Amino acid sequence: MDRPLRVAIVGSGPAGFYAAGALLAADPPAEVDMLERLPTPWGLVRLGVAPDHPKLKTVSRAFEKIADLPGFRFLGNVEVGRDLHHSDLVRLYDAVIYAVGAQTDRRLGIPGEDLPGSWPATEFVAWYNGHPDFQNIAFDLNVDRAVVIGVGNVALDIARMLALTRDELAPTDASDASIDAIASSTLKEIVVVGRRGPAQAAFTTPELQEMGELAGADVFVDPADLVGAEPKDTNAERNLAVLQELAAREPEGKPRRVVFRFFHSPVAILGDERVEGIELVRNVLDENERAVATDETETLECGLVFRSVGYRGVELPGVPFDDRRGTIANDGGRVGPRVYCAGWIKRGPTGVIGTNKKDATETVELLLSDVAAGRLEPNPDATSAAVDELLAERGARVVEYAGWTAIDAAERAAGEKGGRPRVKFCSWDELLAAAEKIASA
Ligand code: NAP
Repeated sequence: MDRPLRVAIVGSGPAGFYAAGALLAADPPAEVDMLERLPTPWGLVRLGVAPDHPKLKTVSRAFEKIADLPGFRFLGNVEVGRDLHHSDLVRLYDAVIYAVGAQTDRRLGIPGEDLPGSWPATEFVAWYNGHPDFQNIAFDLNVDRAVVIGVGNVALDIARMLALTRDELAPTDASDASIDAIASSTLKEIVVVGRRGPAQAAFTTPELQEMGELAGADVFVDPADLVGAEPKDTNAERNLAVLQELAAREPEGKPRRVVFRFFHSPVAILGDERVEGIELVRNVLDENERAVATDETETLECGLVFRSVGYRGVELPGVPFDDRRGTIANDGGRVGPRVYCAGWIKRGPTGVIGTNKKDATETVELLLSDVAAGRLEPNPDATSAAVDELLAERGARVVEYAGWTAIDAAERAAGEKGGRPRVKFCSWDELLAAAEKIASA
């Protein structure tokens, strides 16, 4: 190819940035246009990682370095399916990598799941993180008891966020509305429900340990749940040690309680107009460690249910989808001619941020091997001018990287007085105004 390879990456979370990094470091380096439907980059690092985990968010510094490399363009506020279509991308680029993550939640498939007061984890997480599409949801946290279904790290994030005090929330970049709602809520108890035992829990030990360090909540673990637990790996072994320690604690009378309930599955969410309770069934484990329901049920009164049983990818028009896995149908990241994928939309919603580096690099290596083997012909229309022209024709209000750095600077400045990393703009209008104000100055 007598010009740089031109690649569109759809999505600007960790998988998108690690893919961009690998492409820009290739020999010869490729050119990357990163398309993002929001005016802001970093995906779940900005809008998923819990606000009281600022260290995890510092990975964005590595992404900033990638964004500064020659050949990189950020095209924010550009939605694939609205401003550009899959058919445009395969015409205007040599290759496309979808790194759009898993944007929705897995369903429980039980009666009452959609009652007001029963929320998917995705929406609550997006709300407290200031995602501009989720600020109109009225989370009424003034109930006595909330139930979180699932024992993964997202479930722990939600339980912990609900338990934080105003002092713990104040130095974070959680939205002001969520800080107020959580700190002033009448919530007394948060029950975290696992369908299997403590040895099968998906959460990791540092996240579990944090539950025992909350200023405003005592943690309760039933020692009976730990009897006979057989850890299969080091994480489970460490989790069990922490759970033993938590089970042995005397409560200190803190204002809230976080209660772990293992071996229970929800069978129905109850209530007429809104959530009033949840029916749980007791499970035992079969020889393959699968949960099998007994005939022992109980009803737990509660005003809120958060369903945190895993995320799920959303189908993109024109791109083959594997409905069973909830991912783009792919083989090691290759989807079809010119089309690739990386991250959660490729492998499903598993692993930590760093897992996406290996995952995205594998996809890029496959893409580059296709180029080297002559399986990916240069596209005659692949120019940045052609992309810009089409976006202008469609009336897109593109936020370039300078627009994002303007948003970033304004948010950080707003955070400084309160000793917070930033105060996020939580509406589209504010985000676009901030991007355009300083970008045009
Ligand atoms: P996850 O780790 O896959 O956990 C999902 C949980 O839901 C499991 O406990 C699972 O139990 C349970 N579950 C699934 N279907 C269920 C059902 N029908 N009824 C009851 N329970 C059900 O998913 P996640 O918590 O959404 O996290 C996604 C990924 O992001 C994970 O890799 C996680 O580690 C990562 N993450 C990391 C951090 C961090 O590092 N601090 C923070 C947040 C997220 P079974 O095991 O029985 O299926």
